[in-house]
Amino acid sequence: MNESPTYVANRDSLLRDLEHYISDHLTEGKKLAILLININHFRQINVVYGYQAADHLLDEFSQRLHKLSRKQDYIARVGNSEFIMVLPEILNEGHVTLAAHKLLSSLDSPFSLNGHKHKISADMGIALFPDHAVDIQSLIQKAELALLTARHSADAYSIYTSKTQNIEVNNWDIEDELRNAQERDEFELYFQPQVDLKTGQLFGAEALIRWKNRDKGYIRPDIFIPVSEQSGQIHSITWWTINAALRLIKDWPVTQPPLKVSVNLSARVLNDPELVSSVRSALSIWGANPEQLTLEVTESALMEDMDTSFITLDELRSFGLNISIDDFGTGYSSMAYFKYIPANELKIDKSFIRYMLDNEMDQHIVKTVIEMAHGFDIKVVAEGIENEATLSSLKRLGCDIAQGFYLARPMPQEDFIQWLEDYQA
Ligand code: C2E
Ligand code: MG
Ligand code: MG
Repeated sequence: MNESPTYVANRDSLLRDLEHYISDHLTEGKKLAILLININHFRQINVVYGYQAADHLLDEFSQRLHKLSRKQDYIARVGNSEFIMVLPEILNEGHVTLAAHKLLSSLDSPFSLNGHKHKISADMGIALFPDHAVDIQSLIQKAELALLTARHSADAYSIYTSKTQNIEVNNWDIEDELRNAQERDEFELYFQPQVDLKTGQLFGAEALIRWKNRDKGYIRPDIFIPVSEQSGQIHSITWWTINAALRLIKDWPVTQPPLKVSVNLSARVLNDPELVSSVRSALSIWGANPEQLTLEVTESALMEDMDTSFITLDELRSFGLNISIDDFGTGYSSMAYFKYIPANELKIDKSFIRYMLDNEMDQHIVKTVIEMAHGFDIKVVAEGIENEATLSSLKRLGCDIAQGFYLARPMPQEDFIQWLEDYQA
């Protein structure tokens, strides 16, 4: 077992060390597990408590990992808030699950940050040798993919499976298939309801794209959207989405005020000089009321080219559209620009909502964001609400709008309309 891993390991020497483990296992026919562990919201911890306290937390975290590990296990810090663990001589998957639970339980007791006790959370991705790959680079990549899955799921850890699709489909395939997707009518728009927490009334829905490929089945948007951003296909996908949304809301029940629909815009589209005119023409084609349309832009997309995006968003708002800042809290926001944000809505990222009940720091961040947003007359949406207790807690904190599996999962138009009718009844 190596010593004090709180400095970030040198990549080459790390790979050399890990290859050594693999070669041992090649000859002995044993299993080995690679675990990637990422401390959630580490950047916020840095900002709120300072670097020294954050470093201290890393030390304590790695000490806890060491305490729970066996002498043959390997631990190293591989990124700002990321650790790698190698567990040699694993018997089976159950054995790894047990280890994952044990390691994650080390987070149950709070950490000391500048004299205050705080609970932190982490996500973990796991890959097994030789089951998932036989060379170290691929094993790490598979563990990264599993970590991504964990980040998007309710569970804190995830073991790689070949079902963790994407992976098998390399970027080339996706790009090729995407070209035909629109022609073959493989896209569909799902809607996830949003409810006003103050009145209990329906507020609207977020439109989320679904792609059902004829061979591979459903491919997750967080997999194919980034590919389409790289290839430039995101533009046509976005126009499809906006038009589909405006067409479909015409069949929604009429309410007072009218239900809103939110469409996601990626960074590349935000900087498209055609954006404003395309949105305008879509609104006029479908005869839609601009107040019914909300465009969601992630905080990080907004910051990519702040000057240009602020101008574009101001222009969009000037003809009555709503702008929402998505995944708020995950980008590099600064209080200094907050008052200039050309938005009337802010969506707190689901990673804060997920653990807010037993994580004081997340709860504190949620509370602060709500107060700050209200100070600037910005409405706050919480996404990723998975249970009643979280919903009540957000209501108490003064959050305006709720979205999450607890209320409803994203669903196709027909089911959504049925859901609306049932909700109203
Ligand atoms: P997002 O815009 O932050 O959308 C919210 C995501 O959270 C959706 O995932 C939704 O299904 C999921 N979600 C909602 N409630 C819960 C919950 O209670 N628990 C959990 N664990 N998840 C919840 P989805 O549909 O897979 O979309 C993922 C991301 O892909 C979106 O994140 C958005 O960034 C992107 N995306 C989806 N549709 C489009 C689109 O039409 N255009 C663009 N540019 N991006 C899109
Ligand atoms: Mg969104
Ligand atoms: Mg979001």
